[in-house]
Amino acid sequence: MRVSIVGSGYVGSVTAACFAELGHEVICIDIDEEKVRQINDGYPPVWEEGLEELMNKHVGKNLIATSDYDYAVQNTDVSFICVGTPSSDNGEIDLSIVAAASKSLGESIASKNAYHTVVVKSTVVPGTTEGVVRSILEEYSARKAGETLGLAMNPEFLREGRAVHDFLNPDKIVVGSLDRRSDSIVSGLYRDIDCEVTSVNLRTAEMIKYVNNAFLATKISFANEVGNICKRLGIDTYQVMDAVGRDFRINPAFLNSGAGFGGSCFPKDVRALIGSAKDLDYYPSLLESVIEVNELQPLQMVEILEDKLPEIKDKRIAVLGLAFKNDTDDIRESRSIPVIRKLLEKGADIHAYDPLAADNMKKVFPDITYASSAQEALEGAQACLLMTEWDEFRKLNTEFDSMDRKLLVDGRYLLDPEELEDVEYEGLCW
Ligand code: NAD
Repeated sequence: MRVSIVGSGYVGSVTAACFAELGHEVICIDIDEEKVRQINDGYPPVWEEGLEELMNKHVGKNLIATSDYDYAVQNTDVSFICVGTPSSDNGEIDLSIVAAASKSLGESIASKNAYHTVVVKSTVVPGTTEGVVRSILEEYSARKAGETLGLAMNPEFLREGRAVHDFLNPDKIVVGSLDRRSDSIVSGLYRDIDCEVTSVNLRTAEMIKYVNNAFLATKISFANEVGNICKRLGIDTYQVMDAVGRDFRINPAFLNSGAGFGGSCFPKDVRALIGSAKDLDYYPSLLESVIEVNELQPLQMVEILEDKLPEIKDKRIAVLGLAFKNDTDDIRESRSIPVIRKLLEKGADIHAYDPLAADNMKKVFPDITYASSAQEALEGAQACLLMTEWDEFRKLNTEFDSMDRKLLVDGRYLLDPEELEDVEYEGLCW
């Protein structure tokens, strides 16, 4: 099929490259000319394992990028909206980018003769596709959804860093649609993937995505709360959760205590669901607590540090890990951000290192020192905070010898203190 993908960020560029891999003809649309140029040169605009290979393989053949909506809509049958849906200042979802993309699509569809289907892949609160998106599309295309305009919602569940793998090997594909024709067009795009398609209505598809993320975030905050209690009781929470996770009703995934969740999805999606619930006069106390635990969690790293090093001012502190998780350059809502902010408030001299995310973090904290290796960040430091679960940090050992004081606060249970000689080791929850 011929598919256009609106937005070339993490979701859009992975969706585009994977649909190309599945044999479809794909056109990426982005308003960012730099991203358009990068894609047409065969380079992905974001880092994702395996993405560069797919782009190299398909760009110029069945994958191109443009900023021209008319060209993309005329030359494709279905358009996926993959633009950002950030939190607004009050925590509710900001749909302005989805609205702008819907308007541009509607205007281009207006000058096309054939049937066209629009699919929302961005994460949007229930009611958005059949409310905001549908009304904008109908207004600007002068068509009626369900007649010459198809409308669907196809949430994305990929994990950043593993996005290409997850797209091609999903454990579920959800298609919400207004009508049967849209459902069969969108489901048909996934025909060559070995996974059953769950067909539902638009609102249910939107809700499935939120509930999925809210449940995973709840598991993490639950594990962190248990970890905080275990720390005070002198119990290793990892031993506790290892046993608890063996219960098939619970499952071991997402029970690792640590510095909390970040990224572009969990925090904003839980907040958006909270906002939707409150709009309907329901106070979601459990979800509010999930966010509260997550806000307090990284700051406990600083509290543990201050217990050991009461005067942080002018002390050199190594922060290892800036990405919100390993295998990505994404720093959105990274738990390193509140930690660095708190350390700066206290006058620390921060030397940070991350294998991929330093350039992105420089936009948030231009004035801290960025090292080109963990070893360089550790040299002469009074303490080290381990923030992201990068594999290369698991191998750290003699590198700590170059510190002024070998004090390590591990926020991700990456290192075994028994393997480290003369290191003052403190785990966040263990
Ligand atoms: P992103 O911010 O990385 O990318 C958005 C892209 O859209 C950017 O390249 C931007 O230039 C482009 N854009 C903005 N306005 C545009 C317009 N009017 N027309 C064309 N392009 C435009 O976002 P993302 O992380 O890929 O997330 C996209 C959506 O997918 C969000 O709703 C997010 O919640 C959801 N999602 C993200 C993930 C993830 O892991 N990142 C996973 C599942 C779902």
